[in-house]
Amino acid sequence: MPKHIPQRTCIGCRTVQSKRELLRIVRTPDGHVVADPTGKKNGRGTYVHKTRECFENILHAPGKLQHALKLETRIAPEDLNALMELAKTFPATDAMETEMKGTIIEPRRAHTQATQQQK
Ligand SMILES: [Zn+2]
Repeated sequence: MPKHIPQRTCIGCRTVQSKRELLRIVRTPDGHVVADPTGKKNGRGTYVHKTRECFENILHAPGKLQHALKLETRIAPEDLNALMELAKTFPATDAMETEMKGTIIEPRRAHTQATQQQK
């Protein structure tokens, strides 16, 4: 008889894959969001590929993760940072090591025309 392999959907790219190819992210009872490499932590979990691409995908849109975990509040920034740090340890899906291009967008200066009103 064929062994049943549990399938889960990666919330980063929506691909259905066997559970073991994915990393579980769990909502802890105290409302934190942490990676669960063992897959055994209690709490509501969701799955994402162990790739930088899929992680960046969800970290750029944390609302998706929040929704998947049925969180009523926003995910704490420190939790997102921790996941971001973890994502850096994963290989990029591109064969080439893609460096994060830190494009710094200069804040546009508002053209405040000071109308000099003198009393
Ligand atoms: Zn994925």
